[in-house]
Amino acid sequence: MPSGVQTEVKTYQMFINGEWVASQSAKTFPVYDPSTEEVIAQAPDANAEDVNRAVSAARVAIDDGPWSTTTAQERGRVLFRLADKVRQNLAALAELECRNTGKPIVEAEFDINDVATCFEYYGGLATKITGSVNPVPDNAMSLSLKEPVGVAGQIIPWNYPLLMAAWKLAPAIAAGCTCVLKPAEQTPLTALEFAKYFADCGLPPGVVNIVTGFGETCGAPLVQHPDVNKIAFTGSAAVGKIIVKQAADTVKRVTLELGGKSPNIFFADADFEAAIDGALFGVFINQGEVCSAGSRILVQKSIYKNFVEAMTEKAKKIKLGPPLDRDTKMGPLVSKEQYERVNQYLEIGRKEAKLASGGGRPDKIAKGYYVQPTIFYDVNNSARIAREEIFGPVAAVIPFDDEKDAMKIANDSPYGLAAAVWTRDIFKAMRAVKSLRAGIVWVNHMQPTYVEAPWGGFKQSGFGRELGPWGIEEYLETKQVHINLNEAPIGWY
Ligand code: NAP
Ligand code: MG
Repeated sequence: MPSGVQTEVKTYQMFINGEWVASQSAKTFPVYDPSTEEVIAQAPDANAEDVNRAVSAARVAIDDGPWSTTTAQERGRVLFRLADKVRQNLAALAELECRNTGKPIVEAEFDINDVATCFEYYGGLATKITGSVNPVPDNAMSLSLKEPVGVAGQIIPWNYPLLMAAWKLAPAIAAGCTCVLKPAEQTPLTALEFAKYFADCGLPPGVVNIVTGFGETCGAPLVQHPDVNKIAFTGSAAVGKIIVKQAADTVKRVTLELGGKSPNIFFADADFEAAIDGALFGVFINQGEVCSAGSRILVQKSIYKNFVEAMTEKAKKIKLGPPLDRDTKMGPLVSKEQYERVNQYLEIGRKEAKLASGGGRPDKIAKGYYVQPTIFYDVNNSARIAREEIFGPVAAVIPFDDEKDAMKIANDSPYGLAAAVWTRDIFKAMRAVKSLRAGIVWVNHMQPTYVEAPWGGFKQSGFGRELGPWGIEEYLETKQVHINLNEAPIGWY
């Protein structure tokens, strides 16, 4: 078992203006290990005053501090150093992430490796931010310059805690912004551990501030703060809608990465074994707590019966267990609240469809927020378990007749984050790629995500894109510059 991170209950401080501080209220909140249901840490319960402190540090750092004159090369080097630190501490960070979220250690290690890759990618991109020359029809030079948007407020969820922080911090730092990051209340620990590297990596005080607290008392003041220029939010559609309204008064730039109810579509000609694997992986990875989970499994009628049977048989063999065990495939859900929410959907599902496997707690595990991988079949796309994001290990299998029927069902959702299609027919695959109203479409796979490629949703899955060059654009403003090359007066008078 890897080790290196303390296991006793530790009271963390948060990171504001390069200093470790408690909340001004001195209040803290408990942080849990969802596999034991025990408190593993206390974190500062930040309020509006703490947010003010963090925002003013970020404001000063970008307006007057050394960060305002830091070169792109220097920002790139900071990012490379952060990536190195993450790699050096990969085992300890993964163990902490695993204990706090309940995700299997092997997946946590994969995530932390991705965190380092994200910082490396944006370290390289920092020096590739360029403007352009506009061909205006005059004796003039017209330029488009790129400038940092300013202070970014970044609010993230609990399913990939440090990775979601990386997706936001790395492009913001590359662009020259300053940040106030609010991790999810359930999972603040790895972001706080990460902040320990900042000074060594050459990040000046105030450039990245981390405030831990609750949505209503810490997230909302950040969204409403007049000195914050942009909010980058990843979370539920319900909270995303509140954020847009709260950001309106100060006309903030907002990007939203919200939830989904992504279709994973299987045509009869798909490789059957690969398809079954892809269906299970698509919906049960990370206990189903994935924004792009393939939670609607659309299967062509001619293979439907065999498909449900094969999926069920394999699902029963998925190993649930302690997250730190290397052969665990699914750990507990992140919190009691999430466990209860998912259980409510299991009740709803029993009334709406047929249960093939799972449907509750695993028999042999007494403690922890575990839910069996659950498969409902003969689900109608109008059912609640087909329309609402459950964010747990619950699959809704839906039969379809033909290509047209599949596309109609797939697109009949308020969400449009991701979709996948499985077939050996290239024409059918490409027609599906064109028809699917989703920000990410996979063919003969589901879930691979790369820092080089854009990530974000259509419809109520949000707007804006993270990752790749798209991710950095969201942290830049475009300034038009017109330089008159005529020395004579305009001649207007
Ligand atoms: P959530 O409840 O929407 O919370 C997300 C973040 O928003 C948390 O930090 C939360 O604080 C904060 N928040 C809550 N109310 C707020 C308010 N009024 N003002 C400002 N901030 C507020 O989502 P979650 O349960 O943590 O995460 C699951 C959701 O995230 C799912 O819907 C999932 O699909 C989505 N997600 C999307 C992506 C993507 O890339 N599209 C990736 C991962 C997850 P608290 O910690 O206090 O709740
Ligand atoms: Mg929440």
